[in-house]
Amino acid sequence: MPDRRPYNFSAGPAAMPEEVLRQAAGEMLDWQGTGMSVMEMSHRGEAFGRIIHQAESDLRELLGVPSDYAVLFMQGGALAQNALIPLNLSRGARADYVVTGSWSAKSEREARKFCDVQVAARPEGGFLDIPPLASWQVREDAAYLHYCGNETIDGVEFPEVPAGFAPPLVADMSSSILSRPLDVAAHGCVYAGAQKNIGPAGVTLVMVRRELLGRALPSCPSAFDYAVADANGSMYNTPPTYAIYMAGLVLQWIARQREGDLRGLAAVTERNRRKAAMLYECIDASSLYVNRVAPAVRSRMNVPFQLRDPKLDAAFLEGARQRGLLQLKGHKSVGGMRASIYNAMPEAGVRALVDYLRDFERSH
Ligand SMILES: *Cc1c(COP(=O)(O)O)cnc(C)c1O
Repeated sequence: MPDRRPYNFSAGPAAMPEEVLRQAAGEMLDWQGTGMSVMEMSHRGEAFGRIIHQAESDLRELLGVPSDYAVLFMQGGALAQNALIPLNLSRGARADYVVTGSWSAKSEREARKFCDVQVAARPEGGFLDIPPLASWQVREDAAYLHYCGNETIDGVEFPEVPAGFAPPLVADMSSSILSRPLDVAAHGCVYAGAQKNIGPAGVTLVMVRRELLGRALPSCPSAFDYAVADANGSMYNTPPTYAIYMAGLVLQWIARQREGDLRGLAAVTERNRRKAAMLYECIDASSLYVNRVAPAVRSRMNVPFQLRDPKLDAAFLEGARQRGLLQLKGHKSVGGMRASIYNAMPEAGVRALVDYLRDFERSH
């Protein structure tokens, strides 16, 4: 066994904090003296009740989720939400979408099955920037305005919440939730699949202002009706219990983080800022690697980059693997490389990657 696990730059399912994996391993056969693994417990029992309530209250605390917002633990991932958002919130009428990358493009296409969709903004010539807010075409009477906070594939992130429009904001935060503070109250709804920054695949978080509930289209499946999920404490049917437990451990891990005087999410935010700065500085200083995203909207979580000579891609990936730097291959639609540096990626991992980038450039 090497003395450390390799650094895993996967975009998702992504690396988990090692501490959390060890804690889960320790509790695998017997959760806190119950004699059961969490995955063997009734979701309606007292023990799992404690687990889900703790997870919800920790999430509310970390993100400052207002009390008039429901926190739902659902299934189906963010792609199911692409249908469930219009089914629950559009009333079959108008909904506007900002398209800044592959994921929001998918959201917009799916919504067309359920309501009258308009693209409020979309950059010309590839997903490399976010059109200025003043240029967005937003219908005053749209049921909501949808955007993707961080485009995982294209590496484009909103530096700030695009506030100031009439319709409630709906945000896909799958790959940036809990990477820094989020003004949940500035949104009608925020959703995120867990497998990037919260936990294992299988649970999807939805935070939604209760005022918007109760107007689902009649065709909305009951198990996916936000009002039904809320009224049943996310237990209308069996929730993904083990994934919720793991997400809960990650939330506690975030709350424990320290960075100088900073604690919890503030500490994680500062670490993420430094990690991204280190990596972009290295790429920008090089004549072999390139990232074409406008600097003001570069993602702090997913850093796509190309080798100027793609013939070197295979050698690059093989050399990285030998150094214990895993899953750096870019998404097939963009090509090249992508380093995902979510909360669980330690600074030492980014440093190891930067060292490798420099060494590889020197030897090629
Ligand atoms: C990964 C991802 C998705 C897709 O999530 P699934 O859980 O596979 O449905 C959607 N949006 C964003 C921003 C993502 O990062």
